[in-house]
Amino acid sequence: MISRPAPRVISLEYLVEMNTITVAKGDGIGPEIMDATLAILKAAHPGLAYEEIQIGEQVYLQGNTSGIAPEAWDSIRRNRVLLKSPITTPQGGGYKSLNVTMRKSLGLFANVRPCRSYAPFVTTKHPELDIVVIRENEEDLYAGIEHQQTDEVVQCLKLITRPGCEQIVRYAFEYAKKNGRKRVTCMTKDNIMKQTDGLFHAVFNEIAAEHPDIESNHWIVDIGTALVADRPEAFDVIVIPNLYGDILSDVTAQIAGSVGLAGSANIGRACAMFEAIHGSAPDLAGKDAANPSGLIQAAVMMLNHLGESESATQIQNAWLRTIEDGVHTGDVFDPATSTACVGTRAFAEAVIARLGQRPERFTPATYAGNSAVEIAPYVRKERKRKTWVGVDVFVDWPGDRPDELAHQLQAAAPDGMELVMVTNRGVKVWPQGFEETFLTDHWRCRFQPQATRGAGPAIIPELLAGQLAAGLDCVKTENLYEFDGVKGYSLGQGQ
Ligand code: NAD
Repeated sequence: MISRPAPRVISLEYLVEMNTITVAKGDGIGPEIMDATLAILKAAHPGLAYEEIQIGEQVYLQGNTSGIAPEAWDSIRRNRVLLKSPITTPQGGGYKSLNVTMRKSLGLFANVRPCRSYAPFVTTKHPELDIVVIRENEEDLYAGIEHQQTDEVVQCLKLITRPGCEQIVRYAFEYAKKNGRKRVTCMTKDNIMKQTDGLFHAVFNEIAAEHPDIESNHWIVDIGTALVADRPEAFDVIVIPNLYGDILSDVTAQIAGSVGLAGSANIGRACAMFEAIHGSAPDLAGKDAANPSGLIQAAVMMLNHLGESESATQIQNAWLRTIEDGVHTGDVFDPATSTACVGTRAFAEAVIARLGQRPERFTPATYAGNSAVEIAPYVRKERKRKTWVGVDVFVDWPGDRPDELAHQLQAAAPDGMELVMVTNRGVKVWPQGFEETFLTDHWRCRFQPQATRGAGPAIIPELLAGQLAAGLDCVKTENLYEFDGVKGYSLGQGQ
């Protein structure tokens, strides 16, 4: 097995001698679109060798809950580049999403999804659409850390980190510079999630200030998504946290003409994975009806990433010419703009027949060099002064009288600790809650040290022991801190 050291910054060192890539044909329409794409790749770039791995539904059903076997990991880590078809994650508990596992295990932090219109040859309401969605790929609710805490309440942790924000935002600005893009837009929901989305937005502002040559702005994600759907021509590069980016990039691809047209690159410091943005489309599987364009676009991105810009240009121009000639699969077929409705195989044959040709109406592709974007490594900042200022104790309690719960909590609290607030689903219900507020069995009970008593976090075990002894079911705690005197926790709604 060849082992190559992982570079500290994204660099092409690990790609220079790369001539074998790992491929995974996936599920549903996966094998059909992969065969079509490989036929084009082999015709345009015979020098590339392929190592096939099995991933997805069959591997899951053989009892491997992650959907991938150890030898498949070896191939990806050896070759460092994976071209992957979509896979089907079986429904039901016990199966983790392989896509998410792969992105995170391999450190593929940037999910780059270019979407553009191909008007007038592909019908769209937005002929000027040309957007690159750069989605954070490892964090957010996709950490997949979920717990049931009471009969009525489950939770999912939303983790956002400064290193994660810095590398994705730096990647977006460097990508914009390298690709001649003018503006980077950030989207978050930091009017509600002031800590998590607030960090993403704050890091965006810091890094935008380092790039005065690139315009920058921010939209709250709900109105931002609405504006993309209505006036996409106003957007250029969009950098966005994981979950919002998943949704926004599907919206953007679909309004460009079809979700079947867009490819994506999952870029990491040591490996990269290229795939279509759509799923395994079980409704079309085995019918020779799927559009292979998303995976073809992913393969073009892969060739550019490998520095094989000549082959990338050749395939892209043949593909543009095919679209321009009106040779279309069913998802984009329109008698007004199409000349032939073809299947997956015939579409690939049409592209192969046009290798060496250039589009006549679209601007031809002229890729040069490699597309890899370099970003500086993360440098940890000086640590802030961290002060403990209290603890939130979460309690499973089936009652419906917040004042009764508060009374029990206070009675069991040690000297020096004071109950200051109780919330239910984030909204304050004690002191002075509203009768109208709906109550579940999950209560956040905030204790803070009395100013004169100076208690520290060492009091927490005593606090919990007292509550448990009083019959209160404490299901978790969260410490409250200030960082350089700034609150590192949210207030209760209505507090
Ligand atoms: P989907 O993208 O597979 O399909 C949505 C719709 O788009 C369907 O009507 C489908 O026919 C159409 N479509 C998708 N790709 C097309 C193509 N290439 N050509 C023509 N039409 C196309 O989304 P879904 O139905 O929500 O998911 C199906 C399965 O795919 C699920 O198991 C899901 O978990 C999985 N999935 C996998 C990935 C991945 O592997 N990266 C991504 C998304 C969904």
